[in-house]
Amino acid sequence: MANKIMAEYIWMDGKKPTAKLRSKTKIINAAAIRSADDLPMWGFDGSSTEQAEGHFSDCQLKPVYYIPDPIRGEPNVLVMCEVLNADGSPHSTNTRAALRQAAEKYAKHEPWFGIEQEYTLYRKDWPLGWPQHGFPHPQGRYYCGVGCDEVYGRKLVEAHLRDCLKAGLMISGINAEVMPGQWEFQVGPLPPLEAADQLWLARWILYRHGEDFEVYAKLDPKPMAGDWNGAGGHTNFSTKEMRQEGGLEIVKQTCEKLGKFHMQHMQVYGADNDKRLTGKHETSTIYDFRYGVSDRGASVRIPMATSLAGKGYLEDRRPAANLDPYQVFTALLETSCGQGFNPIDYGWQADMYVTPVREKVTA
Ligand code: ADP
Ligand code: MN
Ligand code: MN
Ligand code: MN
Repeated sequence: MANKIMAEYIWMDGKKPTAKLRSKTKIINAAAIRSADDLPMWGFDGSSTEQAEGHFSDCQLKPVYYIPDPIRGEPNVLVMCEVLNADGSPHSTNTRAALRQAAEKYAKHEPWFGIEQEYTLYRKDWPLGWPQHGFPHPQGRYYCGVGCDEVYGRKLVEAHLRDCLKAGLMISGINAEVMPGQWEFQVGPLPPLEAADQLWLARWILYRHGEDFEVYAKLDPKPMAGDWNGAGGHTNFSTKEMRQEGGLEIVKQTCEKLGKFHMQHMQVYGADNDKRLTGKHETSTIYDFRYGVSDRGASVRIPMATSLAGKGYLEDRRPAANLDPYQVFTALLETSCGQGFNPIDYGWQADMYVTPVREKVTA
């Protein structure tokens, strides 16, 4: 075992409309890993991950971010990778490459992101804790609940939290959610690439722990139809200017800009988000853009604390739980700090899940 490190190489596959995580283990001969540059490039069979055709199927994995592996223990590592083509250019599924550029372009604004990742625990195709042939009590008792009649899956949730902290991830909290079996963890605030990479790694740790509990986490934005809350990925965002004295004015100006690019943002805010953004269950509708102080029915909420302090951040409540943070952060940076976001500029128009235009009602 001496000087052998298990490095789990993790990447996003080519599944449409929502990428999944894939990973495999590389044994590295080294005493310790000190930077991502110590980790060698690797490859995989893209024809098995919807990232290549069979006749020319090799894709490259480039390590870009790593953390101590909390499950195998140190010196082993979890490694987030970008997928590259044979010639070294970013693969079409490599959305991180776009965020890399946007983060560099707007670095002088010192942007920070904080994501609230909601998810639903499942066992055998049914939400954890739900009666096998029926439904639990209506919502109301579960949010931030305690007790085995109110929350389900805490053992897994706690194991996940501990391991995220052990790995040095910037988790800012967890809570049980409104729908039974639904939970949330928060990552950030962090600069764009760190926040996004950490979210993907925290998701991987959650799935991996789920194996041991025979429970899996779904990021479906509306796992159960009817009077059950959906699952979001609220994205909290600020720039240096918003965090300084008088920043509230910049926050409001940014909200106005976000309103002008609502449709473009919705293209990359997660598949099936139209089923979640109905105007009910603490959401705005997908058709309209609205912002307001403390308003949990708005598209973008200005937190009470930001309004009172006159500076702070905004909360974009529109992203679904299955968001790709690389895409969502790119959109937010381009609209807030640049000329506005257009998915077509990135070849992301193929990911248009829903056209947010209200159906015409004919009299
Ligand atoms: P909510 O009241 O919407 O449930 P949470 O406490 O769950 O709020 O999440 C708040 C999120 O805001 C956290 O992810 C945190 O990291 C993030 N956050 C806090 N301050 C900032 C900031 N200045 N810029 C960006 N994100 C921030
Ligand atoms: Mn929250
Ligand atoms: Mn929540
Ligand atoms: Mn929130």
